Amino acid sequence: MTDRIKYELPESEMPTAWYNIAPDLPVAPEPPLNPGTGEPLGPEDLAPIFPPSLIEQEMSTERYIDIPGEILDVYRLWRPSPLIRARRLERLLDTPARIYYKNEGTSPAGSHKPNTAVAQAYYNKKDGTRRLTTETGAGQWGSALSLATNFFDMDCTVFMVRVSYDQKPYRRSLMQVYGGEVFPSPSDRTEAGRAVLAEHPDSPGSLGIAISEAVEDAAKNPDTCYSLGSVLNHVLIHQSIIGLEAQKQMELAGDTPDFLVACCGGGSNFAGLAFPFIGEALRSGKPGPRPIAVEPAACPTLTRGIYAYDFGDTAGMTPLVKMHTLGHDFIPPGFHAGGLRYHGEAPLVSLLAENDLIEARSVDQLATFEAAVTFAQTEGVLPAPESAHGIRTAIDLALQAREDGTEPAILLCLSGHGHFDLSAYEAYLGGQLQDYTYPESEIRAALDRLPVMGSGGGCG
Ligand SMILES: *Cc1c(COP(=O)(O)O)cnc(C)c1O
Repeated sequence: MTDRIKYELPESEMPTAWYNIAPDLPVAPEPPLNPGTGEPLGPEDLAPIFPPSLIEQEMSTERYIDIPGEILDVYRLWRPSPLIRARRLERLLDTPARIYYKNEGTSPAGSHKPNTAVAQAYYNKKDGTRRLTTETGAGQWGSALSLATNFFDMDCTVFMVRVSYDQKPYRRSLMQVYGGEVFPSPSDRTEAGRAVLAEHPDSPGSLGIAISEAVEDAAKNPDTCYSLGSVLNHVLIHQSIIGLEAQKQMELAGDTPDFLVACCGGGSNFAGLAFPFIGEALRSGKPGPRPIAVEPAACPTLTRGIYAYDFGDTAGMTPLVKMHTLGHDFIPPGFHAGGLRYHGEAPLVSLLAENDLIEARSVDQLATFEAAVTFAQTEGVLPAPESAHGIRTAIDLALQAREDGTEPAILLCLSGHGHFDLSAYEAYLGGQLQDYTYPESEIRAALDRLPVMGSGGGCG
């Protein structure tokens, strides 16, 4: 056995088609609904905010979708991303498990998000969009989209959750360097923002509010579309490049994963890693690796949320989608993983969870940072706090393997680096972070506020 560490694919081996799990699903997904009529959504419902090419992808049942050359050209700036065997971490844990991580933190914006941002900017440009609007929490998505719109000569307006806008000035600067225009949300630029400010002038904001603002801005301006960094089917399709590359790299390693582990906010990096493997298992009828989606105990969408139709935003402007949700007016407690604070979950990830094709776990904040520091000290990479949720679970699996005397291969998606999250690390090292479990009473209250279905219109 050599002690090989990196399994790098040559550029020529980069996948040239994305994978879409839709045709391989064992159960049909329930359609998104028009919030006004309660009827299944048609392409025309999405036309005010999305370009035709992406609407087509959103509803596509093609298993493979060719990646246009212009997108491949941008991907090649950092893709294929490396697959690393975490040998130093394995040694520290004294585990018989083999731990591999797919490092998506090597992209220019520092996470997996450019995989879809570049694709979305490309298709919008092709369809004649001049400007994109979006929301961002910690700033990962806003910087990915600013990067992508910059490459395709478009304008970008980012509504950034107020508390992050104030606390994370460096992500904001990065967006501005790439040419993005950034406003704190709630802002006075939209009706949705003004309505929140009228009631709560000091509102810290939330992703749900920022989405309402970005959607409104796009809907009111004909040359402008809206772009979402997770949750939607087309985003999950674009992220499949992670798992497709990882499949080839695991082959290079001569190994087969037993577990797939990724943190789960809206579900895109998890789906990106896991769906190609799940699809292969579903098609062959043979058992595949066990996919585990990991979320914070403070925002336990998959593990404790309700599987129901809900809005994607706070103001109730988006379609109703069947997903795990903590309620569309959920305002998360202030824990340090901005990308994992969304109230909902990708409908496709929810569907697989509901059918026991994936497992979901939640982890506490302190244990998560402890794992992050262990990872940085052994592998050298400072993980994004989001990614550290997956690391926590990978470490737990490796420790369990030591106890059980099993020798599993664990494949982890390292969704991003944490170079812009050092204030969170500072707080952790200074003993200022706490665990916070989302209270059951809040979850029950959220259930009461879910839109009433079948009322003949006007759910919002
Ligand atoms: C946005 C983000 C996430 C969460 O989003 P998903 O859609 O669940 O992948 C996770 N990790 C990082 C680094 C992020 O930026």
